[in-house]
Amino acid sequence: MKQIIIIGGGAAGFFCASNLDEKKYNITILEQNSDVLQKVKISGGGRCNVTHACFDPRELVQFYPRGHKELLSVFTKFQPGDTMEWFDHRNVPLKIENDNRTFPESNSSQTIINTFLNEIQNKNVEVKTKCSVKAIEKKDEKYLVMTSLGDFEADYIIYTTGSSPKSLKIVENLGHKIIDLVPSLFTFNIKDELLQDIPGTSFENAEISIPSLKTEESGPLLITHWGLSGPAVLKISAWEALSLSKLKYNFEIEVNFISRSIDEAEESFQNFKQSNPKKTIGQAKIFDITNRFWQKIVSVSKVDLNKQISNISGKEMQMILENLCRKKLKVSGKSTFKDEFVTAGGVDLKEINFKNMSSKLLPNFYIAGEVLNIDAVTGGFNFQACWSEAWLIAQDLNGL
Ligand SMILES: Cc1cc2nc3c(=O)[nH]c(=O)nc-3n(C[C@H](O)[C@H](O)[C@H](O)COP(=O)(O)OP(=O)(O)OC[C@H]3O[C@@H](n4cnc5c(N)ncnc54)[C@H](O)[C@@H]3O)c2cc1C
Repeated sequence: MKQIIIIGGGAAGFFCASNLDEKKYNITILEQNSDVLQKVKISGGGRCNVTHACFDPRELVQFYPRGHKELLSVFTKFQPGDTMEWFDHRNVPLKIENDNRTFPESNSSQTIINTFLNEIQNKNVEVKTKCSVKAIEKKDEKYLVMTSLGDFEADYIIYTTGSSPKSLKIVENLGHKIIDLVPSLFTFNIKDELLQDIPGTSFENAEISIPSLKTEESGPLLITHWGLSGPAVLKISAWEALSLSKLKYNFEIEVNFISRSIDEAEESFQNFKQSNPKKTIGQAKIFDITNRFWQKIVSVSKVDLNKQISNISGKEMQMILENLCRKKLKVSGKSTFKDEFVTAGGVDLKEINFKNMSSKLLPNFYIAGEVLNIDAVTGGFNFQACWSEAWLIAQDLNGL
């Protein structure tokens, strides 16, 4: 029987092994750590956000700042609906939460790990842990895999080493081009009077733009102890990962906390002023934001909170609305989002055949998962890319 070696015992490697035909191949997984599937274990805060309930491939690819073009064909063959069915067939029901993130009903990543361990045990897949791959050489029709536990021969290689720079070097030495790794999915560090002392304040739908990059995103926003977080920030950090790295994470953003134009906001302000002239500005409830945040806006606009709204000058109102709808904030640095670091960069997608995830440069060599220059925003999309790519590899090999 021909020998398949899967390098990297993570999400992509295990899903591939779980779908390979064990009657056709000897399958071995080489994993450098003492435990496999460590990232799956900690994923989704220990609950494992397995996928995202978005069943239209065209819509789905919009969540991938890098890889959206290439993944379209991949998702037409295996998409979140197929993932859900795959787990369902193995008696692992998944549940879709309000925001479409999808988790095992058990709320435990261990359920997902156990499912994979079960699958590969049934298939007699050999797993070698504490086996760090150091180099790979092409040897006639086969590959020689040099590891900390000695050399292995393989007819087929499936390369799923995640974002380890050391392991990217191994494929680079085999001729693949590597796009530089940069962090994606991070939150913004901002020191500004407006954000001070109100961590936990959230906005249902805010707009953030980065004027120097002519880009903007909208969505929920959260004030944290160190600056701004929430889906709007994470999305813009992912889409602009490369540009923001070049700016060394020092740049200016403009925030519209209420997603309404200054003109619309002024109309609401004037209407409120007419019907409540005696109210103090500090107690005015004009916009859908917390009282504390409104009072912060009024204070940083240098307007006395106790002033009657009828006495607010046009200039003072403009100042308040500018801070609410067009607040300029200086970002200096980034922080990791719930330890969920994802990297942009990796093996250049131009060198991959997306029909089956094979290398265009190396025969019988497949590459999948985070090692590729593919990444997504948060929400289960990164795993979905792993499942879909790994499934394609298994289908290709099973059909040979
Ligand atoms: C804290 C955290 C939470 C996350 N939560 C989610 C989530 O809920 N949903 C989601 O979709 N995504 C999530 N992600 C992202 C997701 O975990 C990754 O996209 C995914 O694990 C990538 O899978 P992979 O198989 O490509 O790589 P990995 O899962 O990283 O697996 C690669 C494996 O290869 C091994 N390896 C590397 N080099 C070698 C070598 N030279 N020799 C032998 N073995 C090697 C590594 O030790 C590792 O076990 C999260 C990430 C983090 C960090």
